[in-house]
Amino acid sequence: MRVCRVCGREARGFLYTHLLRPDLHPTYAFCSRRCQEAGAAIAKRLKGMIDKTDTEKKAIKETRRPFAEIIDELGLMPAFEGRSAAEIDRIIEACVDGFREAMRRLALNDEIPW
Ligand SMILES: [Zn+2]
Repeated sequence: MRVCRVCGREARGFLYTHLLRPDLHPTYAFCSRRCQEAGAAIAKRLKGMIDKTDTEKKAIKETRRPFAEIIDELGLMPAFEGRSAAEIDRIIEACVDGFREAMRRLALNDEIPW
């Protein structure tokens, strides 16, 4: 069962894709017109993303370790001392989002050799 992205009830075929570009943005399902409008407003504010899925959140958390390893290797650990996990996650997310967006853009322009 697909659940409404806003309230978690069963989704009923109300969909939203930012700018109607499923090639660029995820498509979300909602239970009602009301939730669809709320979801659309959130997505517009957040450039098409409503929130991270649980798997994405978990993957970001698991990326903290290789991130810590590389900053340690580069001698950057002191710069990150006292920073919260949320701040570290923001850095990881920025890299992941930037990478994904670039991949989508490059794929659309057929710049990736198949
Ligand atoms: Zn709903």
